[in-house]
Amino acid sequence: MTIPNNKIYKVNSVRKNKNLKKDISPSVDIAHKLKVRAKEKENIRRKLAVTAKQLALVARENENARRKLVITAKKLALSASEKETARRSLAVTARELKRLHWTLEKKVLKRTKDLDQVRSKNEAILASIGDGLVVVDKEGKITYINKSFEEMLGWKSQEIIGKSMVEIVPREDVDGVEVQFKERILTQVLSGKKFVANLTNPFYYIRKDKSRFPVSSIIAPVVLASKIIGAVEVFRDITKEKEVDKAKTEFVSLASHQLRTPLSTVSWYSEMLLAGDVGDVTPEQKKYIEEIYRGNQRMVNLVNTLLDVSRIELGTFIVESKPTNIVKLVQGVIEEYRLQIREKRIHFSFSSEKSIPNIQVDPKILRMVVQNLLSNAIKYTPEGGRVFISLFAQKGNAVLFKIVDTGYGIPKNQQDKIFTKLFRADNVVGKDTEGTGLGLYIAKSIVEQSGGKIWFESSENKGTTFNVTLPLKRKNPKKA
Ligand code: ADP
Repeated sequence: MTIPNNKIYKVNSVRKNKNLKKDISPSVDIAHKLKVRAKEKENIRRKLAVTAKQLALVARENENARRKLVITAKKLALSASEKETARRSLAVTARELKRLHWTLEKKVLKRTKDLDQVRSKNEAILASIGDGLVVVDKEGKITYINKSFEEMLGWKSQEIIGKSMVEIVPREDVDGVEVQFKERILTQVLSGKKFVANLTNPFYYIRKDKSRFPVSSIIAPVVLASKIIGAVEVFRDITKEKEVDKAKTEFVSLASHQLRTPLSTVSWYSEMLLAGDVGDVTPEQKKYIEEIYRGNQRMVNLVNTLLDVSRIELGTFIVESKPTNIVKLVQGVIEEYRLQIREKRIHFSFSSEKSIPNIQVDPKILRMVVQNLLSNAIKYTPEGGRVFISLFAQKGNAVLFKIVDTGYGIPKNQQDKIFTKLFRADNVVGKDTEGTGLGLYIAKSIVEQSGGKIWFESSENKGTTFNVTLPLKRKNPKKA
């Protein structure tokens, strides 16, 4: 702080006036006071200088703080703009996402619609198949059935989905014997034992109302990544086919009956001519009449065989089962063929286990089986060949009949047709052998109707073995 000079002068002059009276050396005193005053002034100046420095410092600090504030403000402004930019770009992204979402949603909706259409189309196709269709999972539980299944078996889809096919739809053989779970083809296909089963042997499915109908079916496994994950079965009601078959068989039966009368007439008259009952015939005439007689005999055999076939198919064969000694029966048939065996110089043998029990069977039809198999063995074995017959008692109350020959054999590629009606293998047709192709069909039908099995092993030009097993007693068959 600066004190004005005139004020200092005023103070000094007042003091000067007061001190004039008492101080006798006023000049010394004034000098001293001036010195003091100067010192004080100097102190004040220094303090003022310090204060000024401090003020300058404070001002600098303020300036720094201001600058920092400016920087912060700038930064804040910058981050605000960045934020704004980010916000804008987020908004764009969100819009883009929304657009993509809609596009996707539209695509999904379209795909779903397409899939629905394909599914409905597939379902419509499956539903309109005339054959019954069932799909099961690997446990044999029903996962899908079509409309024809519902109509044929009387079950509604919602009643049986998830239930076991084998339990819901029992299967019976021709005799009305229910096929057991393990033997059901579906069970075997699911366990991988059979790959595709084409069941041509008619069997019956039981409807919900317990009535039954004949079916033929194809069962195949559903395989995914080499694992069986289920099976699909397509089956057909063959009632109509069976009726047509029956009508055909009835026609053959009728025709055969009608043929028998004229054939018998030809037979009688040729016998009479040969016996000379109506006068002598020349050797040449005799030769022709013998031809007529033999040809007629073949025709009689064929007609009789056709009649047997139609009787078997129509179930009109009168079967009279009784305890039958199969050893004696086979020996009897062998005797019938002794002459042929000798003529062809066949090495023949027969062996039988000692304790062969009696079988409950109609001896008349069993004889037909043995006759067919023995006559074939002789017929299809060249001169000097060998034929053996053997009989064994089998575990499980059955008898095994085995006939082995060293004949022409059956070509591998025709073996699956050998039991079908009228089939004769190529390798024997060219040879001097006569046949109708009905013998094995008849034999198989009889054996299976008696509850037995027939099968063979054969290799061309080496020989053939036919095996027949027959149960001692037929399991109580229920008739269709
Ligand atoms: P066929 O009257 O022709 O003998 P089958 O039904 O008895 O009729 O036999 C059908 C066919 O099976 C025969 O034509 C023949 O090709 C073949 N066959 C049957 N048995 C034998 C056998 N023991 N050896 C070779 N082929 C056989």
